[in-house]
Amino acid sequence: MKAGYNYRFYPTDQQKLSLAQLFGCVRVVWNDALARSKAGKYPGYNVLAKSLTLSKKTEERQWLNDVSSVPLQQSLKQLEIAYKSYFESLNGKRKGKRVGQPRFKKKTNNQSATFVKSGFSLKGKAVYLAKIGNVNPIWSRELPSDPSSVTVIKDCANRYFLSFVVEIEPIQVDAKSQSIGIDLGIKTFAVMSNGDRSSSPNYKELDRKIRFLQNKLARQPKDSKRRNKTRIQIAKLHNRIADIRKDFLHKLSTKIVSENKVIVLEDLNLSGMMKNRKLSRAISQQGWYDFRVLCEAKSDKFGREFRVISRWEPTSQTCSDCGFKWGKLDLSIRELICLNCGTHQDRDENAAKNIQKVGTGHCHDSKRTRIDRKTTKDSKLK
Ligand SMILES: [Zn+2]
Repeated sequence: MKAGYNYRFYPTDQQKLSLAQLFGCVRVVWNDALARSKAGKYPGYNVLAKSLTLSKKTEERQWLNDVSSVPLQQSLKQLEIAYKSYFESLNGKRKGKRVGQPRFKKKTNNQSATFVKSGFSLKGKAVYLAKIGNVNPIWSRELPSDPSSVTVIKDCANRYFLSFVVEIEPIQVDAKSQSIGIDLGIKTFAVMSNGDRSSSPNYKELDRKIRFLQNKLARQPKDSKRRNKTRIQIAKLHNRIADIRKDFLHKLSTKIVSENKVIVLEDLNLSGMMKNRKLSRAISQQGWYDFRVLCEAKSDKFGREFRVISRWEPTSQTCSDCGFKWGKLDLSIRELICLNCGTHQDRDENAAKNIQKVGTGHCHDSKRTRIDRKTTKDSKLK
């Protein structure tokens, strides 16, 4: 299976210039091809690659010859993949969250350029990129095998990364237990059916700083140097939050997936909950979505089974010990004593136990066949 390995690097001033030029060319090639596709219908990679070759001979686009042709072709390949996902999502061939139409690339977003075998090589500690030269990434961990491609990324906070795609073998680790159910919430990020709890890191302080800077940004004149500085400061803070969250989600998902054979999550209706625009809430919801994606990917990696049960399952309305149905509970009720069997139940842990039961078939997932919606992320968040 394929995996991504990322490393930070610090380009020289000359390389920064060459990379900026390369990113610009990749963006123009993508945007040209996308504009043409949107004007009519998507003509396919071959047609677009031919017109790229032709456009390089025109005065208007001859500067595309100054950069390596490999990332330019990859840009068209990526557009092909984007369109394929979009079409398959439209006609229902593709499962999971809906994929929208490809979008135009902006100068202010993350920039990237992908090199395949013909455009890069590993030279000891250095990585050679065609027409850029040797860059020296910080090898925080070893590459497990020969990479098939490398993507150079510059994020909004002006950090540079190399992202390698490598082939890896599934990891062999014996699971401690058969299965686990996980209830995701805002107050406690995850409550497990075995009683474990995991709280989200606290982003309040960073949150406050971002809001302050966003107010400042709103008052600064467009295209001013100071505004640009504020924009980068905001991007850096967003990155800090994203890094902390990523680290937290990676650690939690690795622990859960490595310890259990079957991992069961409840499907969540995120778009419905998205009406609350508070940032902290949005972050926790984004976290649920990312957590699910990580658990699913790691389940593949560890050879585990990953299951999702319907969000219509009354997991918080039923006693996980005796199966007695209490009915709907007010959100303020955090624990209760079952009327039928007298067991003292914690609301979230009880839900997690029910999720585990339904997911492992000990209890019938009644509505699963009728509604099999997947957790979706609101696009406005991006
Ligand atoms: Zn009971």
